Amino acid sequence: MAVIKVDMHVHTCYSKDGLLSPAEIVEHCRRKGLGALAITDHNSIAGALAVRDMAPFPVIVGQEVSTSQGEVMGLFLEREVPRGLSPPDAIALIKEQGGLAGVPHPFDRLRREALGKRFLEGIAGELDFVEGFNSRVTLAGDNRQAQEFAGSRGLPCTAGSDAHSGYELGRAYVEMSPFNGKEEFLESLASWAHRRQLESLLGSLLQRLREDASLVAKELGDGYTASSPSGWALPTGRGAPCCSVQCRHLVARQV
Ligand SMILES: [Zn+2]
Ligand SMILES: [Zn+2]
Repeated sequence: MAVIKVDMHVHTCYSKDGLLSPAEIVEHCRRKGLGALAITDHNSIAGALAVRDMAPFPVIVGQEVSTSQGEVMGLFLEREVPRGLSPPDAIALIKEQGGLAGVPHPFDRLRREALGKRFLEGIAGELDFVEGFNSRVTLAGDNRQAQEFAGSRGLPCTAGSDAHSGYELGRAYVEMSPFNGKEEFLESLASWAHRRQLESLLGSLLQRLREDASLVAKELGDGYTASSPSGWALPTGRGAPCCSVQCRHLVARQV
């Protein structure tokens, strides 16, 4: 059976902190062998539509929506969801247009945009998925907590790199059957394994520093891009089994 790799959390330059143009994203996907991806810019679907228009592979139009309590995520969107709503109201707008609603990095203790347990409990009944692995989550236990929460509610886990640069794209993905539309996506998501690259705390910090340098260079307009070789090397990832039912086949590997 055919299997594709799908990175379900990617940002374009339409996010204020994103570095990648739609054309660069298509090229990185081609080089890394990704078969589909979700573009999930902050409070915008313009970049997702631009990538979908030019990509020779399926692109899920998504959005990371800033709510009054933290971020929620919509996939398979047709229209942008306004920022600043309550989490239930944002989810209602995602569902109203036929989208799938989920929560990215819900337990990331180092990110103030994380929704957290209190608000997650209140909307759990409305969710279609939980992001069970996000490459930018520094403390591995925070991803595990998301996987456990999803498992306890019978929700499928997504996995994504949360890439803002070419270097990061594809660092986490789900291997799944090719899908056509949201129903097949959900079916396939529930039955396939996550693969991911773990990174050390040092690796994560170096990555952030590298990206900050890229953003400064971008501001200065000197032609530097994050995919240019910088000479910085990140420590090699290390595998660990996942504890949740949803991720029972999880195998870490260097991407
Ligand atoms: Zn986020
Ligand atoms: Zn993000």
